Amino acid sequence: MATFKEFRNNVKPNWCPGCGDFSIQAAIQRAAANVGLEPENLAVVSGIGCSGRISGYIHAYGLHGIHGRALPIAQGVKLANRELTVVASGGDGDGFAIGMGHTVHAIRRNMDITYIVMDNQIYGLTKGQTSPRSAEGFKTKSTPEGSIESVLSPLEIAMSAGATFVAQSFSSDLKQLTALIEAGINHKGFSLINVFSPCVTFNKVNTYDWFKENIVKLEEFPDYDPTNRIAAMTKIMETGGLLTGLIYHNQTRKPYEELVSGFRPEGLAKQELQLSRDEFEQL
Ligand code: SF4
Ligand code: MG
Repeated sequence: MATFKEFRNNVKPNWCPGCGDFSIQAAIQRAAANVGLEPENLAVVSGIGCSGRISGYIHAYGLHGIHGRALPIAQGVKLANRELTVVASGGDGDGFAIGMGHTVHAIRRNMDITYIVMDNQIYGLTKGQTSPRSAEGFKTKSTPEGSIESVLSPLEIAMSAGATFVAQSFSSDLKQLTALIEAGINHKGFSLINVFSPCVTFNKVNTYDWFKENIVKLEEFPDYDPTNRIAAMTKIMETGGLLTGLIYHNQTRKPYEELVSGFRPEGLAKQELQLSRDEFEQL
């Protein structure tokens, strides 16, 4: 069984020192090992942004896609080879601005994919512009007098789109984040995991300290029932979307790929597409 170190490759991440994305990468690697995956069982598909680099930093199949299009690619990968565990990832600009149409329809389609959004509430790669996740009044080069648009709530949108798994975490909480990614991978259907991931270079408002002061952990509410859709929506709204933990899950719906029977004969992927690690290295 692979250890988390076997999900490392020799590429050194070029994120700024202190960027939250480092911990998210570590959590994905730990979760992959903890659920018993081998590198050849995992595909990581990313979009564009600082966060989009992650697919090049993990020893697994990786595809660095185009802006806002991680999910269409990830869904294609999953349909072509249902035996793969598919993790899609990207930033809040990538997934909740240009890619929002894909995000909503991937949620309602419910393919067995784990979607991890590195939410730093700004565009980092392009040097600090306001994103759909930036708060009203947030000042950047693109909104020098402060954002006059309302902040988008991906958790509320996911719930209303019929999500079967919704979670949120904080990059500093490696234990919680790893456990949620494991749960997302084990969930049979689409899992949205939004992760607060501070951009230490351009976002001087939503800092590590700001998140530590403002986050509400769901574990503080022992009676909370994550299978209750109305309770989930209420708790998201009560906390201003700043809650972390497993917010909602529902395993009553089958994933999309189990419903499109006859799409591909069983076993074809394993037989023709899925190489063992030894075979791959001999190519
Ligand atoms: Fe991370 Fe921000 Fe640096 Fe990008 S610019 S690597 S998001 S700290
Ligand atoms: Mg961003």
